[in-house]
Amino acid sequence: MNTIAIMGPHGVFYKDEPIKELHRALELQGFQLIYPTNSTDLLKLIEHNPRICGVVFDWDEYSLDLCSEINLLNEDLPLYAFINTHSSLNVSVNEMRMALWFFEYALSAADDIALRIRQYTDEYLDTITPPLTKALFTYVKEGKYTFCTPGHMAGTAYQKSPVGCLFYDFFGGNTLKADVSISVTELGSLLDHTGPHLEAEEYIARTFGAEQSYMVTNGTSTSNKIVGMYAAPSGSTILVDRNCHKSLTHLLMMTNLVPIWLKPTRNALGILGGIPQREFTRENIEKKVAETPNAQWPVHAVITNSTYDGLLYNTDFIKKTLDVPSIHFDSAWVPYTNFHPIYQGKSGMSGDRVQGKIIYETQSTHKLLAAFSQASLIHIKGDYDEDTFNEAYMMHTTTSPSYPLVASIETAAAMLRGNTGKRLINRSVERALHFRREVQRLREESEDWFFDIWQPDHVDEAECWPIAPGEEDWHGFRDADADHMYLDPIKVTILTPGMSELGEMADEGIPAALVAKFLDERGVVVEKTGPYNLLFLFSIGIDKTKALSLLRGLTEFKRSYDLNLRVKNMLPDLYAEDPDFYRNMRIQTLAQGIHKLIKQHNLPDLMLRAFDVLPEMRMTPHEAYQQQVKGNVETVEIEELLGRVSANMILPYPPGVPVVMPGEVITKESRAVLDFLLMLCSVGEHYPGFETDIHGAKLGEDGVYRVRVLKEA
Ligand SMILES: *Cc1c(COP(=O)(O)O)cnc(C)c1O
Repeated sequence: MNTIAIMGPHGVFYKDEPIKELHRALELQGFQLIYPTNSTDLLKLIEHNPRICGVVFDWDEYSLDLCSEINLLNEDLPLYAFINTHSSLNVSVNEMRMALWFFEYALSAADDIALRIRQYTDEYLDTITPPLTKALFTYVKEGKYTFCTPGHMAGTAYQKSPVGCLFYDFFGGNTLKADVSISVTELGSLLDHTGPHLEAEEYIARTFGAEQSYMVTNGTSTSNKIVGMYAAPSGSTILVDRNCHKSLTHLLMMTNLVPIWLKPTRNALGILGGIPQREFTRENIEKKVAETPNAQWPVHAVITNSTYDGLLYNTDFIKKTLDVPSIHFDSAWVPYTNFHPIYQGKSGMSGDRVQGKIIYETQSTHKLLAAFSQASLIHIKGDYDEDTFNEAYMMHTTTSPSYPLVASIETAAAMLRGNTGKRLINRSVERALHFRREVQRLREESEDWFFDIWQPDHVDEAECWPIAPGEEDWHGFRDADADHMYLDPIKVTILTPGMSELGEMADEGIPAALVAKFLDERGVVVEKTGPYNLLFLFSIGIDKTKALSLLRGLTEFKRSYDLNLRVKNMLPDLYAEDPDFYRNMRIQTLAQGIHKLIKQHNLPDLMLRAFDVLPEMRMTPHEAYQQQVKGNVETVEIEELLGRVSANMILPYPPGVPVVMPGEVITKESRAVLDFLLMLCSVGEHYPGFETDIHGAKLGEDGVYRVRVLKEA
């Protein structure tokens, strides 16, 4: 961070000479100098180069307007205005919150000015560095030698072994030096919430609009368990979104809770629609409590917000309506909602406290922000018992946390602050909008077919598009509630031909898995693949080149598909999986083959039914797990699942939500769940390379999926 932009010179001797001197003096201070040609150029430069750490400019020429514009980009960036004796300073400079310093054009003053610029630059870097990260940087810089863990001793142990040296050189010295022991007192403690760690938590809470925040070092999988272990005593009843992450099933396996499922809708495309409003009402919950063995009025609720396909709830409605003491929004996929106005009222932490309720929000900082894998946050609003909560926190937290990981959570927060943070999120939104319009344009210009996007007809403005009831049928949800759910623009679902939004199957189609494989072989990884849809996330790491290569991948697919290339040439990796099978096959044959199979199974209808009637709960997930631990389990072929108590959760990827929970039985009424699983198996049986990943079911050498069930007494 050592680049300073200089606006000038101006072709006037008395101004040019001092600037030339300053140039030399700043270089001696280790700065690199660049000269933008005008203010537009300068602003673009600042926007695209976060390493710029100062701007020198002529006050008479640019004055306050330029300062305001720079401010919108980065309000902390130091600005150095050069004035002459006649410059007017009557503007209310001091009332504006900006880092602005004045210098006079004078010869032989450069060394002094450069020294001060160095000082102000250091102050700037200090201002933008959050507390724990700063303490860690300082600690590493001081190079103290410790006699404690980790055993690699700031990397030195690695350098005593050839393979260790390879590892050291790959990760670099600072990564290893920053991996320090919990015994370093000046960094405080993650588990006791002291020192810079406490400061980091407070800093993060302020940034995310929470009252309290906890940094979690083992993903939102762990955050979800921590919240659950605190919020629901053993034996109590909780409401759980049926489309939950598997970590919540694990919570239910760890502690004996009675789950009452909140049932989301799903459209024929397989897109998860979220839980309809009627599910949150008192009458509905009373009815479910009455129907569920051992259930009482729930003490807690967990809702996945956003859904896996990027639908956000009107959280205000849920907070007000749902009559339980605490509500947990699992927002693993949307850690950015506090940083753009379009997400207002759609996140756990938005709005004020809700009288008598505790609101939790868990986020995977690593999923869409810049943090290391496993980085996660718990945010809380409302009165809770900190000591008890911390027991649950410590129960799940290592006593040797990785400090680089913890610092990465804090830095992710720091990146979102102020105008620079707003701009970062806004850029993702704009990039996604641009991409959406490009695909729309290509579709309109295309003579025959092109990919479609799951979105309203007009996507001009940055907004979250409502899944509105009535005429608008772009979303394909029947009976949608008004003001309830909204599509996040940065979650882009691309539709392949073959199925309409209302679930009518066309004669021909291109199953999305083919496109996903094609893109994958070109280095574009799809987040989630449905039968005829692909999900892409426009996170802050997606730049223009990545968006372009996705677009190019799609157009290339179309071209190759229309030319009906051989699988061997178009999808070499797939071909390699079974060269005999794919020897002379062409892409259209493959696409139509899978499409027919899906059509035969009547997938749209099957999916709707599979998620309509839930399997029956014979025992709680915890009880089922205890049976498993005692060894009362056996393995059966997946077709024999009907009528048997499942020992595990069964969860096909995608979409990655459990369809059978431990302790549940697929009965005649819920037979569609099994049919759905069998259909997924069948595609893989017919087409090598298209096997579905089903967690909780093992694919044997013989091509048969097997599951674990409880032994029958
Ligand atoms: C990914 C995910 C989690 C788990 O987060 P990790 O950080 O991977 O542990 C929890 N809930 C939802 C909804 C998720 O998508």
